[in-house]
Amino acid sequence: MFALLGQLARRYAKAGCSDHFDEDTNRRVVVVNLFVFIGGGITLVLGIRAIMGDDNHLAISLFIASLLFFSTRWLQILKPTRFYQTVSSTILQCCLMVLTLYLVIAGGNNNTGPLWIYLVPPVCMFLGGFKYGLIANLIYTAILAIILFAPSEMLLLTSYSFEFKTRLLYSFMTIIFLSAFYEYSREQSYSAVGQLRDEFERQALHDQLTKLPNRRNLNEQLKHEYQRTLREKEPFSLLLADVDFFKRINDDFGHDAGDEVLLILAQRFKQAVRNQDLVSRWGGEEFLFLLPQTSLQQAAEVAEKVRLQTVNEPVWQNQRPIPVTISIGVAEVNPNTSIDDAINLADKRLYIAKQDGRNRVIWQ
Ligand code: GH3
Ligand code: MG
Ligand code: MG
Repeated sequence: MFALLGQLARRYAKAGCSDHFDEDTNRRVVVVNLFVFIGGGITLVLGIRAIMGDDNHLAISLFIASLLFFSTRWLQILKPTRFYQTVSSTILQCCLMVLTLYLVIAGGNNNTGPLWIYLVPPVCMFLGGFKYGLIANLIYTAILAIILFAPSEMLLLTSYSFEFKTRLLYSFMTIIFLSAFYEYSREQSYSAVGQLRDEFERQALHDQLTKLPNRRNLNEQLKHEYQRTLREKEPFSLLLADVDFFKRINDDFGHDAGDEVLLILAQRFKQAVRNQDLVSRWGGEEFLFLLPQTSLQQAAEVAEKVRLQTVNEPVWQNQRPIPVTISIGVAEVNPNTSIDDAINLADKRLYIAKQDGRNRVIWQ
């Protein structure tokens, strides 16, 4: 029973949320849904009470407000786009402000109408965010002050004591300050969490030393590219490049020099290929290149260019040239091969390149 109620409540609160929205927009959708349930429900009940108390003006105003509240929910569910979400939350805020100002002017039941103005600051902050929420609240406060303190209460249909009006305004401004502070802190922590998440995501998908995409990242890109190959029947190619005798570089020049070699090679590889090509750090001193829309033969030409560039340009470290060569295995991925088959083939060809004496490209 409770589980069912919980499920219904969740479904009600989340109606209109969408995967296309960012987290903040979905949060606003939920706030509108919850406010409509409570605010729309209360205005409806108060409207019925006003009818029974023969206060027809109040009843009509409350019914119209309730109808508008419910229509904002209906609008954001019917048109789940960011634009309509903004429209519906703006209508809701305006409607709430007009209704509460009317309750101040008319006094409501036994002059209790002004109590409802405390809903305005949190609702406007939740829905409009810190900046727009603050602007809306300041405009509202100015109008409220004019209504309350106009000469001879000419804008009021009822009467309040001077003390009540000043205390109402002071306490209202305190609530604005607290709501604004809360919303500001929430936005700050939201953006700090977002930055942290982006940074973790970047770290999880990139190699720390070379900043190249790592193996996990490239596996995702490979799947993506493979789908395109299946769709468009266009092959792509892989180059598996491995630094020759890298262990010796470490032994002769030190581990830091080895790191420097990997870093410089990574930069050179990236510069040597097209923008749409991807170079990843596949393992220790192994790099996998993904060349979209590239046949085996074209890929072999790219591989040869990269190999020549590497052998012709030693890496300089502390004014010492470190000679570097690479061996490369090339393979094509087309609709008749799987990604794994192509990687295995590139690996096999790389092995042959090593066996044949290194510093060479094997592509067939
Ligand atoms: P081959 O020509 O057969 O590829 O010989 P190799 O020495 O390059 O291959 P091997 O697999 O024997 O050695 C690879 C070395 O790369 C061993 C490992 O310590 C080193 N290495 C792996 N990752 C890093 C790194 O991030 N930095 C440094 N400096 N060395 C690394
Ligand atoms: Mg090696
Ligand atoms: Mg290796």
